[in-house]
Amino acid sequence: MGQLTGKTALVTGGSRGIGRAIALRLGAEGARVAVHYGGNEAAAKETVALIEAAGGSAFALRTELGVPGDAEALWRAFDAHADGVDILVNNAGVAGPGLIHEVTEAEYDRVFAVNAKAPFFIIQHGLDRLRDGGRIINISSGVTRVAFPGMTSYAASKGAVEVLTLTLAQTLGARGITVNAVSPGTIETDIHPWMADPDARAQAAAFSVFDRVGQPEDVADVVGFLASDGARWVTGQNVDVSGGSGLG
Ligand code: NDP
Repeated sequence: MGQLTGKTALVTGGSRGIGRAIALRLGAEGARVAVHYGGNEAAAKETVALIEAAGGSAFALRTELGVPGDAEALWRAFDAHADGVDILVNNAGVAGPGLIHEVTEAEYDRVFAVNAKAPFFIIQHGLDRLRDGGRIINISSGVTRVAFPGMTSYAASKGAVEVLTLTLAQTLGARGITVNAVSPGTIETDIHPWMADPDARAQAAAFSVFDRVGQPEDVADVVGFLASDGARWVTGQNVDVSGGSGLG
C-alpha cells in the first residue's frame, strides 16, 4: 500500500514533461490521479496508461487554461469523474520569453493568464472540493531567485504564484491544508526546444553544481514528498529544485 492510497490528486498539465512525472509519482504512491491536459490528448492518455500499467488508477480531463471560465470548466470536467480532491498540483504553464522592451501586452496577458490567473481561480473554485488536511503544490521556477532578464513576464508570473502560495498557506492552515511552491531549474522537457542544440544544453547543464540538466523526475520526487504525510508541518514554503543552479 502506497503513502497516498485512498487520496485523489489533480495534476494540471499532467500530460507531458514535469506534470507527467508528477502524475506518475503520485499514482505510484497509490493516489487516483486526474491527468489534466490542454490539447494533447494522446499524451494525456499515455500518462494514464503508464499509471495503470504500474498498477495505479487515473483518468484524463481536458480544459484549455488561460481563457475566461477555465477554472470552472476544469472542475466541471473533474466532477464527472471524482468526488473531492486531496492533492492539487498547479503545474500547467507556458514559457514567456522577452526582455522588458520586447514583451507585447498580448504576450504578457497570455503568460499571466495561464501561469498565474488560472492557478488562482483553480484554487478558488477548488476550495469546496479540497478536503481538510489536503495539499496544494504550485510549480514556480528558479527564475524568481536568479535574474533572467530575457524572461521578464514569465518570471513575474511565477513571482505572483509564489506570493499566492505564501498568502494561502496562512488562510488554509486552519483546515490543515498545506500550500507550497516548488521551483525547478532547467528541466529537460518540450518547453525547451533549444535543448536539442548540444552547446546550449551544455551551457544550461553548467549552471547546476551537478553539471547536468534536470529531469522531470527530479521535480516529481520533491512534489511526492510535499504531497505525503511526512510534509504535514511544511507550509508556505518555496522549495528550490534546481540542482544548485546559480549558487555562485
Ligand atoms: P511542457 O511544455 O513540457 O508541458 C506543459 C504542460 O502544460 C502540458 O501538459 C500542457 O498540456 C499543459 N498546458 C500548457 N498550456 C496549457 C493551456 N493553455 N491550457 C491547458 N494546459 C496547458 O512544460 P514543463 O513540463 O516544462 O513545465 C511544467 C511547469 O513547470 C510549468 O509551469 C513551467 O513554467 C514550470 N517550469 C519548467 C521548467 C523547465 O525547465 N522545464 C523550469 C521551471 C519551471 P498539453 O500536453 O495538452 O499541451
